[in-house]
Amino acid sequence: MEVPTPSAAPSTVPSPPRPDVPPPSFLDGRPKKLLVGGRWVDAESGATFPSVNPSTGEVIAHLAEAGPRDAARAVAAARAAFDGPWRRLKPRDRQALLWRFADAVQENYEELRLLEVLDMGSPIGRRRSRPAPAWEAEVLRYFAGWATKIHGETIPNSVPGSVLSYTLKEPVGVVAAIVPWNRPISNAIWKIAPVLATGCTMVLKPAEEASLVAVRLGELLAEIGLPDGVVNVVTGGAGAGAALAAHHDVDKVAFTGSTETGRRIVEASAGNLKRLSLELGGKSPDVVFADADLSRAVPGAAMSVFSNSGQICCAGTRVYVERPVYDEFVDGVSEFANGLKVGDGLDPETRIGPLVSEEQLRRVTGYLDAGRAEGARTTAGGARVETGDLAKGYFVAPTVLADVRDDMRVAREEIFGPVAAVLAFDTPEEVAARSNDTPFGLAGGVWTRDVGKAHRLASEMRAGTVWVNTALLFDPAVPFGGYKASGYGREMGPHSLDEYLNVKSVWIDTA
Ligand code: NAD
Repeated sequence: MEVPTPSAAPSTVPSPPRPDVPPPSFLDGRPKKLLVGGRWVDAESGATFPSVNPSTGEVIAHLAEAGPRDAARAVAAARAAFDGPWRRLKPRDRQALLWRFADAVQENYEELRLLEVLDMGSPIGRRRSRPAPAWEAEVLRYFAGWATKIHGETIPNSVPGSVLSYTLKEPVGVVAAIVPWNRPISNAIWKIAPVLATGCTMVLKPAEEASLVAVRLGELLAEIGLPDGVVNVVTGGAGAGAALAAHHDVDKVAFTGSTETGRRIVEASAGNLKRLSLELGGKSPDVVFADADLSRAVPGAAMSVFSNSGQICCAGTRVYVERPVYDEFVDGVSEFANGLKVGDGLDPETRIGPLVSEEQLRRVTGYLDAGRAEGARTTAGGARVETGDLAKGYFVAPTVLADVRDDMRVAREEIFGPVAAVLAFDTPEEVAARSNDTPFGLAGGVWTRDVGKAHRLASEMRAGTVWVNTALLFDPAVPFGGYKASGYGREMGPHSLDEYLNVKSVWIDTA
């Protein structure tokens, strides 16, 4: 995880004027189209929607707004590709395409990051501690390795006679990948990589708040020679997503987004009982024991909440602190939060960019009011940042709410903003129970020097990922996914491939 040193500038000081970064040539003023069957087309209705830079409130592009008929056209293109020569392509050829795509992502990474910053605000300096190569290119290379290693098994059976039985692993078919806005490059590539590795085809539906990266990735896929229709990109809102989720010729939905939308997708999938994998919301606990090294736990727990302005599904938003170090922790984390530079995503010094939209701003500030009304004590931030140029964007100061109780809304509901709720606890047994007292189960964190305590709590937490003395680490080889209302299915790692494969058993009487 990146744990930045707090800058000297307090969060309420406006950023210097926006650095003069030339916009990428991709933003040429022409509306972006849909990628359907290898062709760039307008929405059938001709409708478009704007993309807004949340740092400035400016419209930076317009995109075709797909409706249900456009979604259906894209599904038909994906089906035609799946039934066509793509099915007969050798694993080595799919592997080569993944490698080529990884190289293209790497070569164009600066532009992709710039689009991400302009479209949803994630600070350009956010990943500077990550060494090259680009993380998403690494994901593609990891899945490229798998393309040639997917196979069934020969299984000895006990039926009389001379009967051979074996399994085949086959791609599930047409995948609708519906993703949110919080990490546009990763969200798209986490879906494209297993689709290409397993030999499926797809319709990618990015979120309406941040779709530019997905369109640019569509261009790169065409440039590397991906056959037409294997990946289709359909921009638009909930209507396009709902049409894909309900479509009878879609074999699987790979969804990342809110738990509420996840439920709708489960219902919509009932028509043809399509396969689902669901990466949903979270309200993850982060437990700080009194024996923890606070010089690591304070910035680590803070950035587990504040990274990407809290717009991370697995953010450690419920921070449980053992009572003997509670006050020291609250003081430390508040000081840390106050030292984080809030600003335009293009400023390399910015650590906390804007929220993605005005709607999200209203939602998050609504939670700040609710927390105060329910008796939480604000020890850092607590409001929109409106000084100078920042008034045009959707900025919220990194906020620490202390003395939070488990029954408060800020401790129970996903805020998806830079808001840490800090709660006190007394015993390991109590904190294990309280950590699990949530409908969600995406992730958890533990900060302690006691290895026994760490292992016990890691095993007791009902969550898909537990980080000990660290946070927000990801690797293409390590699975990620939820328990409970945080969804089911896994991304990354070998398990994720099975989400895109069917197992067929073949029996042959050899007599
Ligand atoms: P969202 O559920 O509102 O939207 C996600 C996507 O679903 C968008 O593309 C949207 O257009 C589409 N959509 C909306 N209604 C739909 C419907 N009825 N049928 C089909 N598609 C529909 O989520 P969001 O606000 O964009 O993203 C934030 C949420 O995503 C948070 O809850 C966050 O926790 C979650 N998230 C989860 C993970 C994870 O890996 N678990 C990762 C990132 C974000």
